[in-house]
Amino acid sequence: MSEMYQKEITMTTQYVPPEWAFEFHAHECPFMPIGYRMGKLALEFLGVEKEADHGFFVFPELGEGHPQTCMMDGMQIATGATYGKVMIAKTFYGKLAATFYHPQKGAVRYSLLPDFIDAMGKFEFFVYRKKGIEPSHIPLEVRREVIQWVYDQPDKVLFKVEAKPDFTYTPVKGSFNKTKCSVCGEYVFDRYVRTKDGQPVCIPCSGYEKPVLIER
Ligand SMILES: [Zn+2]
Ligand SMILES: [Zn+2]
Repeated sequence: MSEMYQKEITMTTQYVPPEWAFEFHAHECPFMPIGYRMGKLALEFLGVEKEADHGFFVFPELGEGHPQTCMMDGMQIATGATYGKVMIAKTFYGKLAATFYHPQKGAVRYSLLPDFIDAMGKFEFFVYRKKGIEPSHIPLEVRREVIQWVYDQPDKVLFKVEAKPDFTYTPVKGSFNKTKCSVCGEYVFDRYVRTKDGQPVCIPCSGYEKPVLIER
């Protein structure tokens, strides 16, 4: 019996990220697979397939400056609600949870249970992480040990699941309209056009707001 076959038969979850997911994420860690599993379970809960276009939203409650944000790559990979399609936006609550929303099917929130987080935190992987060692520099067997353990845990050990029947979200109305900035000459989509001396300008040329806008 090969090692791979042995691994497969011990896995409790069928929602294991494909190889390309790890290539996209660029390292092997336990959190991308947890986010992937969350996303797959949310699709299953809501009865929808991976989203091809713009019909599925993910609102992770993560923020920045804390660990475990890798989950968000897994959520995108599983659901198709990607950053580039503007289907995912953080709430900056600093919590290990996310709400998944389909306008016709409703919403569900998945959060990681504190006992699961505590149990996972005992793995050697986190001894390295707390020393500031990046995942790709942690020995592969140390990473795979915790990843395999996560695969082996039943869903109810990982997640609290809450249907959110009252959840609604209205995305901004899209428009193709764009204007050339009268200062730099570059195109700017109309919802971001500002006016200076009666002329259309982009935000950096307007002087109205800080020149680099970061999602907050
Ligand atoms: Zn990661
Ligand atoms: Zn400009």
